Amino acid sequence: AASAQTLNFQAEVKQLLHLMIHSLYSNREIFLRELVSNASDACDKLRFEALDTPALYESDSELKIRIDFDSSARTITIADNGIGMSRDEAIAHLGTIAKSGTKEFFGKLTGDQKKDAHLIGQFGVGFYSAFIVADKVTVLSRRAGLDAAEGVKWECAMTGESAGEYSVQAVDKASRGTEITLHLREGQEDLLSGWKLKSLIRKYSDHIVQPIVMRKEEWDEEKKEQVLRDEYETINQANALWTRSRNDISDDEYKAFYKHVGHDYDEPLAWTHSRVEGRHEYTQLLYVPAHAPFDMWDRNAKHGVKLYVKRVFIMDDAEKLLPAYLRFVRGVVDSADLPLNVSREILQESKDIDTIRAGCTKKILGLLEDLATSEEAGDKEKYATFWKEFGKVLKEGVGEDFANKDKVAGLLRFASTKADTPEETVSLADYISRMKEGQDKIYYVTAETFNAAKNSPHLEIFRKKGIEVLLLSDRVDEWVIGNLPEFDGKPLVSVAKGGLDLGALEDEAEKKEAEKAADDYKELLEKMKASLGERVKDVKVTLRLTDSPACLVADEHDMGMNLARILKAAGQ
Ligand code: ADP
Ligand code: MG
Repeated sequence: AASAQTLNFQAEVKQLLHLMIHSLYSNREIFLRELVSNASDACDKLRFEALDTPALYESDSELKIRIDFDSSARTITIADNGIGMSRDEAIAHLGTIAKSGTKEFFGKLTGDQKKDAHLIGQFGVGFYSAFIVADKVTVLSRRAGLDAAEGVKWECAMTGESAGEYSVQAVDKASRGTEITLHLREGQEDLLSGWKLKSLIRKYSDHIVQPIVMRKEEWDEEKKEQVLRDEYETINQANALWTRSRNDISDDEYKAFYKHVGHDYDEPLAWTHSRVEGRHEYTQLLYVPAHAPFDMWDRNAKHGVKLYVKRVFIMDDAEKLLPAYLRFVRGVVDSADLPLNVSREILQESKDIDTIRAGCTKKILGLLEDLATSEEAGDKEKYATFWKEFGKVLKEGVGEDFANKDKVAGLLRFASTKADTPEETVSLADYISRMKEGQDKIYYVTAETFNAAKNSPHLEIFRKKGIEVLLLSDRVDEWVIGNLPEFDGKPLVSVAKGGLDLGALEDEAEKKEAEKAADDYKELLEKMKASLGERVKDVKVTLRLTDSPACLVADEHDMGMNLARILKAAGQ
């Protein structure tokens, strides 16, 4: 055989390995879920590539995942007959981390094991989790379509506590796919048990579409122990979870499936599962995660919905399936109408996809609405979590999704003068339900920070009259409001703009007083205007202040001052 070549891990891999072993030790069981998940992905990829190139099956088209253990050698082996890896792929995929958000991830680590364990989970654990339980990992792989002689052996042993390098070597591998052997660390012997491994598979990988097989076991009366037979049996349910009926799926199964498709280690916040029949036929199983991914603001970040056609995996990251402002959603859409050879280009034009997208959007907005309005214990908190994690992204929908603008607007939450705290808990509907007798507008103030908004002199008259005002201080708020002239028939009005016509909220005596004051101080106003010159449009007497002597106001038809400030800062 060819001699082995030694290569160095990318620095981030070394760091991740070290962290993982130390922080995730108490969750060591996840290694099996991660490796089975990779084997399943590899089978999906093969099935998809084989649509065009059936020869890739090499007369072995029953895709499956096999798990074996050997007590005397102290090894566990996870094998699949999926797509496999070439030598270059093994180096690229098992020696580096290609995920977007890697830098942010490493920047957020604290050194506190508990916190970091959580972060690693969010980042995605993956292949390297093998090293939690193993001090040496051997990968044998051959990519589908390559010759048996083009197999690759990848191997990495921990020396002491760390691994800095791995080796690759060309080997013969008759069967296509990947075989990963874990040489267990001291103290991991309990994993060398059929019963233990089977229970882990049922717990974490029951939903995997391909059969996961293990040797049958038999009680040997003489030896007084379980002995392995040559025959294999299927351990998991081995069907696509989303094709089953909702009533037959437990919450735990939904959650386990989420961890697989969402590459997340936490539980989802909520999900929606439904089958659409009629002119278009498709199934959607969509999840809202409990936390934002690292790369939510990365324009090139992957979207999280996988597209299947009649249970055949077509693509990850099908960005056309949901609008950009719902890019945090994870899950699966399985269409019965699209052609199996559908490409990204075809998707761009497809009317079927437009229908699916509209349907998925409606489902997710409905799910969020239900969470927000539900009286069930815990749901209100869930919505608050959702808003904290994804509110900023959802806001984009007000400007981007004309058809659902009102629905999205209904999901927005704001801080207001009612509580006077930065917590964003007030919906526009809440606001309207609390409007004063005679009030017909929704008032808001925008500023660069919550405190600036809260202390705005423009609020004085509103506070005096007990009128609630929304306090907006997110950078995008001005833009959001600009796209939302009204809600439920009530115009949204800035307290910092124009003549501030309080309508029926104004009292006659005050009005008279103001008119008189304007008359009395005419000369003074003229003088001030003259000395301020170009810098102001007008100087007026106002009723809107109770404590402050003066304030700046934007003209009714001009852009808000906060927006003007943002544009100026952006150099416009
Ligand atoms: P992820 O699954 O999120 O991409 P992993 O760390 O789990 O990250 O795996 C890294 C990569 O290694 C995979 O994307 C895949 O390209 C490759 N890989 C891992 N296991 C297998 C396997 N059993 N068959 C083929 N490729 C694999
Ligand atoms: Mg993986």
